[in-house]
Amino acid sequence: MLKRVEVKTNSRVQLIDITAHIKSQLRSENFSSGVVFVYVPHTTCGITINENVDPTVKEDILSVLGSLIPENGHYRHLEGNSDAHMKASLIGSSVTVFVESGALVLGTWQGIYLAEFDGPRKRSVLLKIVPD
Ligand code: ZN
Repeated sequence: MLKRVEVKTNSRVQLIDITAHIKSQLRSENFSSGVVFVYVPHTTCGITINENVDPTVKEDILSVLGSLIPENGHYRHLEGNSDAHMKASLIGSSVTVFVESGALVLGTWQGIYLAEFDGPRKRSVLLKIVPD
């Protein structure tokens, strides 16, 4: 089954924890066991899994990406958001997470993040939920 979660981002570059949104979709379907593919159909945002306790990790990730791929570099793409395209490719557009007994199988410190690189925008997160 395919579900869609709408996420509103509120700055140009941002990591938003969407774990609760995904859990809520699994609960609403009474989904017990299988996998969920989490995918964004966009070219300037991505999906990643990382630390969800210490907020400085998010800041460090965004800071390092900003250093590696500056917003105002020498790019050929005329839309003014080349850095966002490159950061999105580096992060990737999907993750796959196992589901057991109705719960996401995540490590203690892990959360699922939408990585915005050209916000603020409304983003769609697609969930493909596949039973065992
Ligand atoms: Zn562009």
